Amino acid sequence: MEIAKYPRPPRDTGVGFHWIPDEQHYGKSVLDAFLPELIAMGTSWLVLPSPLDRPIPEYSVKSLLGANIEPVIKINTTYDCCLDQQHLRRLCETYAHWGVHYIFIFDQPNLMREWKQWNALDLPDCFMDYLLPCLETMFAINDIVPVFTPLAPEGNYHDLEFLKRCLDVVNSKGKDYLYDKLAIGIHNYAANKPLTWGKGGQADWPCAQPYRCPPGCENHCGFSMFEWYDEIVRERAGHSLPFICAGNGVLVGCREHDYYPSIDETLHARRSLEMGQMLMRSQVPAYIFNNAFWVLSAEDRSDFAKHRWYTPDGKPALPQSIALLKGMPKQTRRPATTAPKSLRVLITDNKIVTMDLEEYSKGVVRQEMGPGKPLEALKAQAIAARSYAAAAVRRPRHGDAAVCTTTHCQVWSPRRYEDTNRAVDETTGAVVTYDGDIVSTYYFGHCDGQTRNSEDVWRGALPYCRSVPCICGYKTMYGHGIGMCQRGAMAMAEQGATCEEIIKYYYTGVTIVGNVAPPLPNKLQT
Ligand SMILES: [Zn+2]
Ligand SMILES: [Zn+2]
Repeated sequence: MEIAKYPRPPRDTGVGFHWIPDEQHYGKSVLDAFLPELIAMGTSWLVLPSPLDRPIPEYSVKSLLGANIEPVIKINTTYDCCLDQQHLRRLCETYAHWGVHYIFIFDQPNLMREWKQWNALDLPDCFMDYLLPCLETMFAINDIVPVFTPLAPEGNYHDLEFLKRCLDVVNSKGKDYLYDKLAIGIHNYAANKPLTWGKGGQADWPCAQPYRCPPGCENHCGFSMFEWYDEIVRERAGHSLPFICAGNGVLVGCREHDYYPSIDETLHARRSLEMGQMLMRSQVPAYIFNNAFWVLSAEDRSDFAKHRWYTPDGKPALPQSIALLKGMPKQTRRPATTAPKSLRVLITDNKIVTMDLEEYSKGVVRQEMGPGKPLEALKAQAIAARSYAAAAVRRPRHGDAAVCTTTHCQVWSPRRYEDTNRAVDETTGAVVTYDGDIVSTYYFGHCDGQTRNSEDVWRGALPYCRSVPCICGYKTMYGHGIGMCQRGAMAMAEQGATCEEIIKYYYTGVTIVGNVAPPLPNKLQT
């Protein structure tokens, strides 16, 4: 199933919470006290702990759904009994009948304290003996999306390795059909680090080793953890899967990283707001479905009382954070498939200027392909230049500026040519998307007859940058070889290919969103 087809709540903001972390707080009065608060903070998702032997009350589930809040059911159980799959099926069917979509079972299996018998050597295999039948049971229920159990960041058995080995078991046992309807659970706590910590994944941080993050290096233990997990998922499932957050946010008093200030109530509020905004504005990949602030409330005697946003009787425990979320303008998440109007560009004398995206693209096509080329090749170049810039707006490459004007990003000049301008005008607003996200459309001068898989040159495997044969006619590689070969694009255009055909040839599995003027009849094209 494509990412865009997975269920989401109406008017989805992506903002979510983890409910009170015991199974005792589902009475009508508790629900009725917290529901208006959740709504006022823009909540669309709620993680709810459930026992295995019976469902939580129907009233709780139904009132949340009635308020457009998507419940994520977390079934608590242990590994020391034989789990009755018939029973699990009946429980999940009950939840499905009430309107629940997402369910996970167990939690943080890579922690020693979760096990009576800790078998470090074969832990992932041992865990999958428990999990795999449960995933299959849940998969078989129409409206249920099974969620792969969220791991503890790092943990006693390193989470990245644990995830790899578990998914390898899925493949080796021939259960890869599960990837058609599966989400991945995640605990992407931000600690006291910036939310961009570890952004780019292992590909950008080869220095990060299990349990060892040398000074100057960044690892997966932060808000951007999903990028690290996604790399692992794509390698094994062949495509991204949705991520369901089971618990995250920042915790007051956290000083995990010495370099950054510890989290006080003010910083807690700021970071929480920042997370909410990133989700609503689609500044996270489309495969990130939700946030789950830890934790809405907890009893005084609970270990988690120090993390709670509210006391159990509904009084604010983190008033600044609550006020900021309530005041935050609410906006429905939309896949980022429309190009922004403008972007901030770092120009050569170290100034940042805001440019209209179309005007900027004209200055790039002029420099990166130049005049006098077949129009359809220039149009393909225009779409690639615009997409690259649009993707950089969401993930800026130069601090406050999306792009620079050198070969590092895309070469740009204020000068113009008539035919390069026309290529931009005839593709106004058109961008390249994959799985509902605008993608960085890399391109280069020419190849040696074959473009490259991204992971053969850089570290990350980008699903839309696959090696394809190319008719550019050169025997040597000029450039990185990833994405569109510019000489190949010109050769294809000369043979009558449209800009859409060129783009879809060099970028595997992509969609072009936006209007593209049809090509001229062949004889008029020169
Ligand atoms: Zn740059
Ligand atoms: Zn080529």
